[in-house]
Amino acid sequence: MPETLILDGKVIAVEIKKSIRERIAREKLDICLAVVLVGDDPASHVYVNSKEKACAEVGFRSKVVRLPASTSEEELLKLVAELNGDDSVTGILVQIPLPKHIREDRVIDAVSPAKDVDGLHPYNAGRLLTGTPVVSSCTPWGVMKMLEHYRIPIAGKRAVVIGRSNIVGKPMAMLLLAANATVTVCHSKTVNLAEVTREADILVAAIGKPRFVTADMVKEGAVVIDVGINRVEDALQKSGYRLEGDVDYAAVLTKASAITPVPGGVGATTIPMLLSNTLALYEAARK
Ligand code: NDP
Repeated sequence: MPETLILDGKVIAVEIKKSIRERIAREKLDICLAVVLVGDDPASHVYVNSKEKACAEVGFRSKVVRLPASTSEEELLKLVAELNGDDSVTGILVQIPLPKHIREDRVIDAVSPAKDVDGLHPYNAGRLLTGTPVVSSCTPWGVMKMLEHYRIPIAGKRAVVIGRSNIVGKPMAMLLLAANATVTVCHSKTVNLAEVTREADILVAAIGKPRFVTADMVKEGAVVIDVGINRVEDALQKSGYRLEGDVDYAAVLTKASAITPVPGGVGATTIPMLLSNTLALYEAARK
């Protein structure tokens, strides 16, 4: 049996950032990403710091606004409106999750589609649906870059996506469909899930449950993409937890023809895709 190909997201991250950095330096583009963080979710703080660092790496300016958890929905919407109207800001990202008293959909709708670097605004989601996206949700977009980089054929393949969130599952399904896969989307109400997933040439897991996808759910030779990032308590780690995907990696490794690790797989491509979306919006605004 041929060795399983490990799809390394870090390699793709380096490649994407290098190409953006060279372009920014060559053309001296002035691009600014505004990131808004409300509250004290520790994981969100880590993500926002990484985004700020990534901007500096490629030569973007960044403007991080950190607000207390007590910020009202109206105050946040007012800030988003200001950033929408600020010509020095290219893209806006409001870090999710937001505190419970703020309606996420209202905030997502308030970000101008022309500055929506997360690709979550209904206008951009609609463009993806109609096959003319300017930007797409970063994580599934990163999966497509990964498949492209490793020259994994998609057209005509049977793709199964587990998960139907607006941020991962649905855009993932749309992108695979646009690349001519035959796509099935599964969710918590899917009956005989394993029967469906065993049909997949390309299986994408975006569930949020550690080691949910077991070897018996995977067809021999399938390409397995693990989007899951789960914190699992682990007293042996300094942090007190370790990261695990939605796939039982050790068991599936011997069955798949290609697989993404966690960490170092899909997760590593998300921030580079955010930078790529910001550049795409900059270009679109100048057309
Ligand atoms: P959501 O919780 O929004 O969605 C989870 C999906 O999984 C839902 O559609 C749900 O179905 C489905 N699901 C839950 N239980 C089952 C089950 N037993 N059988 C089949 N389907 C099930 O999560 P997200 O999409 O936001 O994230 C998914 C995972 O990806 C998480 O681990 C998250 O941390 C990770 N993630 C990683 C990112 C990255 O790499 N940078 C970015 C975003 C997310 P239903 O709709 O019926 O409830």
